[in-house]
Amino acid sequence: MTTSNCIFCRIVSGEIPCAKVYEDERVLAFLDINPLMPGHTLLIPKKHSETLFDMSPEDAAACGAALKKVAAAVFKGLDAEGLNVLQNNHEIAGQEIFHVHFHLMPRKTGDGFKVPWPAKKYGPGEMESVLQKILRAL
Ligand code: AMP
Ligand code: ZN
Repeated sequence: MTTSNCIFCRIVSGEIPCAKVYEDERVLAFLDINPLMPGHTLLIPKKHSETLFDMSPEDAAACGAALKKVAAAVFKGLDAEGLNVLQNNHEIAGQEIFHVHFHLMPRKTGDGFKVPWPAKKYGPGEMESVLQKILRAL
């Protein structure tokens, strides 16, 4: 996808409006237009990358620093009791907009939102073999 047909690039360029929360040289944060709860915020690198894996180290670092700052403001400003950060890569993981973005979701008692967490157990030897696969890819 080129940047001209990417909705988030069009937000960065100002072609599509957004409720801007934060901006610096590399990063933009704005309110999600279809929030899971009030204050649901998206944080993106201004430069187009499809997923986390495609980002430059500089953009990743800038997003990390801004994430801390913006998450703290969302948490404080919304009088939240907690906050989830969610980041989807590829369709299987729920990514619908293919410009990397971080969801910041302030949480309150009774907000009705629950992240599914169907935890499992490793089989015999499986944890070590999984670990080796990741280490080989590093
Ligand atoms: P994802 O499923 O992780 O790709 O999330 C994409 C998010 O972008 C969804 O939560 C949408 O509600 C949000 N979104 C789509 N278009 C806009 C827009 N124009 N302004 C703000 N948020 C948007
Ligand atoms: Zn884009």
